[in-house]
Amino acid sequence: MRETFPIRVTENRIIAPNAWLLSFPRTFDFVAGQVIGISLNKSEVPRLYSIASGIQQNQTEILYTRKEEGLLTPPLSRCQKGDTVYITKPFGNFICKEEEAVWVATGTGIAPFASMAFSGQYKGKTLIQGARTPETMYFSGFFKEKMGSHYHPCCSRESTEGCFNGRVTDFLRQQTGIKTDIPYYLCGIAEMVVDVRDILISKGVPFSKINSEIFF
Ligand SMILES: Cc1cc2nc3c(=O)[nH]c(=O)nc-3n(C[C@H](O)[C@H](O)[C@H](O)COP(=O)(O)OP(=O)(O)OC[C@H]3O[C@@H](n4cnc5c(N)ncnc54)[C@H](O)[C@@H]3O)c2cc1C
Repeated sequence: MRETFPIRVTENRIIAPNAWLLSFPRTFDFVAGQVIGISLNKSEVPRLYSIASGIQQNQTEILYTRKEEGLLTPPLSRCQKGDTVYITKPFGNFICKEEEAVWVATGTGIAPFASMAFSGQYKGKTLIQGARTPETMYFSGFFKEKMGSHYHPCCSRESTEGCFNGRVTDFLRQQTGIKTDIPYYLCGIAEMVVDVRDILISKGVPFSKINSEIFF
């Protein structure tokens, strides 16, 4: 088990139905796209969370949803300013180079791309973000402002102006002439990652160009 360090919560803010942004002081350097482990007790095995904040921000931020029967997220959602949580040092290899690439995320899988974008690493990137409703399209205002026409929000349960009406998989299936010589980065639940991977391969993207981070 990775070593954990106590840290005081700065804020634990609900930002959408059933979604929280946990903040605590940044005590370690990290590379955008990395994860940390979090637990509420030193003896518990930490759960993994992608860092959602930028590398220069003083506060580290974690975007999470509460799993009703889960071990960690129900008590975590009740944490308040000043409470102690235990974190590991950042680690992980879901890291994007400074080159043209496509990011695909659903739900809280947007976190590593938010970290990259908040770190200023959005140039040359195209983001396809999936959510059920506009209010769970986390950080969409920032992406829209910084990425403009390279930002494609896809809303599966509601049709909203400026959003593709459907899943990220529907959006990708409809694309003609997608680039096959650039890397693709996928993050979210296994089902989405597998479906998107299969669509990309069917459109000629080599398997070696597809990078993924699965939240399980
Ligand atoms: C690399 C990585 C990055 C991640 N990043 C994020 C992130 O940024 N944000 C985020 O929200 N999540 C992220 N996750 C997921 C996160 O680690 C947790 O799995 C998630 O928050 C649930 O934790 P929990 O302790 O509340 O629920 P758990 O106790 O793990 O339970 C999750 C669900 O499984 C069910 N369950 C538990 N045990 C069993 C069992 N034995 N049989 C059947 N069902 C069971 C529970 O009822 C619950 O609904 C990431 C995961 C990975 C691997």
